[in-house]
Amino acid sequence: MNPFTYPATAHVRRHGPQGYADLDSFRPWLRDEFSFRCVYCLLREQWAHVRGLYAIDHFRAVTHHPEQAQEYDNLLHACAGCNVAKGARDVPDPLLLLTSPAVQVSEDGTIHADNPNAAHLIELLGLDSERFAEFRMLWIGIATLAARHDSALHGRLMGYPADLPDLTALRAPGGNTRPEGIAQSCHVQRQNGTLPETY
Ligand SMILES: [Zn+2]
Repeated sequence: MNPFTYPATAHVRRHGPQGYADLDSFRPWLRDEFSFRCVYCLLREQWAHVRGLYAIDHFRAVTHHPEQAQEYDNLLHACAGCNVAKGARDVPDPLLLLTSPAVQVSEDGTIHADNPNAAHLIELLGLDSERFAEFRMLWIGIATLAARHDSALHGRLMGYPADLPDLTALRAPGGNTRPEGIAQSCHVQRQNGTLPETY
């Protein structure tokens, strides 16, 4: 499976923690919400040293929308590179636009979009650069080799991280507008034996 396959449908949020004063408290919710990947480029936490690499991205930039600075529905799990590339610009919504098959990554790592808004977002973030295509091609090759020759390695490359956050233990100070989502969290799914080995 191509590890750069975007979700088949627009993302519908399953968590809704409210009222944290510090941004970092939203992180475990966002990691689970977005499957431990950057929402823009799909860089997986499993592929990199995680510390410092993932940012909490404000979809609507704080500069222009300060009232949404601590609003969960405005927060995204993004790699540092995409977070910097986006900067303080208002960009098209990745949760609506970066879906498959409208956006496709080929075996050679190049990315194509049917939808002009998705193409615009890809261009703004530089996801269509030669370096990015090379990066994707490397990981597609590594994942394909591992799938053929080393299923344990493939499981680690394409599986969930070991440190899945236990959202049942968290209490957001302002409550949770989508408490039913916790039952769908990866930690709970792993406890129930329903979490897929790879994704
Ligand atoms: Zn990224």
